[in-house]
This record gives sequence, structure tokens and C-alpha cells, in this order.
Amino acid sequence: WQPQPPLAGLSSATELVSHWTRVFEKRGIPEARESSEYIVAHVLGAKTFQSLRPALWTQPLTSQQLQCIQELSSRRLQRMPVQYILGEWDFQGLSLRMVPPVFIPRPETEELVEWVLEEVAQRSYAVGSPGSPLILEVGCGSGAISLSLLSQLPQSRVIAVDKGEAAISLTHENAQRLQLQDRIWIIHLDMTSERSWTHLPWGPVDLVVSNPPYIFHQDMEQLAPEIRSYEDPAALDGGEEGMDIITHILALAPQLLKDSGSIFLEVDPRHPELVSSWLQSRPELYLNLVAVRKDFCGRPRFLHIQRSRP
Ligand code: GLN
Repeated sequence: WQPQPPLAGLSSATELVSHWTRVFEKRGIPEARESSEYIVAHVLGAKTFQSLRPALWTQPLTSQQLQCIQELSSRRLQRMPVQYILGEWDFQGLSLRMVPPVFIPRPETEELVEWVLEEVAQRSYAVGSPGSPLILEVGCGSGAISLSLLSQLPQSRVIAVDKGEAAISLTHENAQRLQLQDRIWIIHLDMTSERSWTHLPWGPVDLVVSNPPYIFHQDMEQLAPEIRSYEDPAALDGGEEGMDIITHILALAPQLLKDSGSIFLEVDPRHPELVSSWLQSRPELYLNLVAVRKDFCGRPRFLHIQRSRP
């Protein structure tokens, strides 16, 4: 016996949200109400349930809409993240396409972008006036960081690299979608297999920014099923101490970065100390951890590392 989907013409958006919230709760699906609200709103052509016109809350849905809600909700029952179900997600006010297994941008990463923007506003760059830096993003995923920097820094240019083919094609798609393709150079490349960096189309950069894979390998098992079953582990697993890619980026700094350039990283709360002592034993890199910022939960999660070669 299968529960019958609610009959066409008899269920309103509000009733559907309550129905699926109950089903999700019973099946232990996290964020049950948010998930059902997003799905119902999406099928009705809105981003959030709250932004639906109140007239649509109570109006009977068509059988096609009901079927669509049924189909999308069944994916949520399989623990698919809502971002992949909807196929798009907002980051820094940009609507980005989301396709599994490309890493879904997290809200805290918006804080990293905001920090970079603050820093850029305070400096002037050789190519022009403040706001015209050349930026390299390592591990661009969907393009969230690169594209939001480009859209808020009209004079900037970005080189975005990722080792995942799906990530590269999604960054291309999102760049086109947002009409930012003219200032971004998207390169399919695995940083860890590069000994020397010869790929920069415009020479050393002003800024390197990255939300690298930084999860400690032994913590990968504990990730939520949404992450474990759908997102590319290569975007998450940072090796034994979560530092594999971080240290790669830092070690390449002399080749990547201008002498007074900066690196902005999102990391695990255990990393500020680990990175600081890693840097102290490598003075030849001329890199200093100049500032650590906390995320909105109060955990130290963002690093500003500056190169100051005399
Ligand atoms: N914060 C991410 C998570 O919770 C991990 C991001 C990363 O490794 N870059 O899954």
C-alpha cells in the first residue's frame, strides 16, 4: 500500500507544505519544513515560500504541479540536498546553477568574499585604481567565489581553477548565465600535480582566494548523508590533517603571488594554529598569517596570509 498523492485541485500550496513537512519529519529528514517550502515555492515559480503571493498559498494546485512536487520531494527523501533538487542557489545575491556532485557554496563562505572585498577596497592595484585586482581562485566549484568577486569588483579579473571536470563546466555555465565570462579565465587543472606553475595567463596575481578541501580525512565518515552521498569528496577531503591542498597553495605562493600579494582561505577551526606553525618553519616563502576571522558561529575560520618579500 502506497499513500496516494493528494488529488489534483484539492490541495493548496500551504497544505502541500504541511503534508511534506510531516512526511519528511517522520522519515528523519533534516530541515523538513524548509525543504518542503523550497520545493513547493520552486514549483510555483518562486524562490521562497514567503515570497509567493498570498493568493497562491490557498489556491488549488494543478495535477502537473502536484506531480512535480511529488517527484522533487521524493528526491529529498533520498537525502538529496535541496540545492541540487532545485538546481539553483543564491550566493552573494547571485543565482547560481547547482549540479551534483559540484560542491554547494555554504553561507559562511559569503563572509570570506566580504572580507576580500573589504581588503580590496582599502588598497590600490598596479593595473588601475582600487578595485582592479587580478585574482586567482583555487578550487572554484560552481564559481561562487570568483563570480561574486567579479560582479562586485567591476575592474577585476579572475583566474579560476578546479581539478573536477564537472566543476569547470558548471563555472563556465554560471559565468555565461551571469554575463561575467569576459573577465574570467577558467582552467581545468589539478594544483597538486603541478610542480611549477606555468598556467597564469597574466603573470603573478594580487590575490589568491580559496575554500579548499580542508576536512580532516578521519572526519569524512561523519559527514551528513546529504554531503557524503552527493557532493564530490575531492572538494571536501583535505587529507590527514585537512592541510594537503592548503599547504600546496602556500608552497606555490612565490610563483603565484606578487611580492606583496595576499592569500585568503577558508579553513577548519583547528587550522589557524597549524597553518601558523607551518609558515614559521618556512621563512623562504615570505608568508605571514596577518589576520584570522571568525565565522558567524564564532569559530576561527578565515585566514589572511600576506606575502612580504623585501
Ligand atoms: N564546510 C564544508 C562542509 O561543511 C567543508 C568545506 C570544505 O572542505 N571546503 O562540508
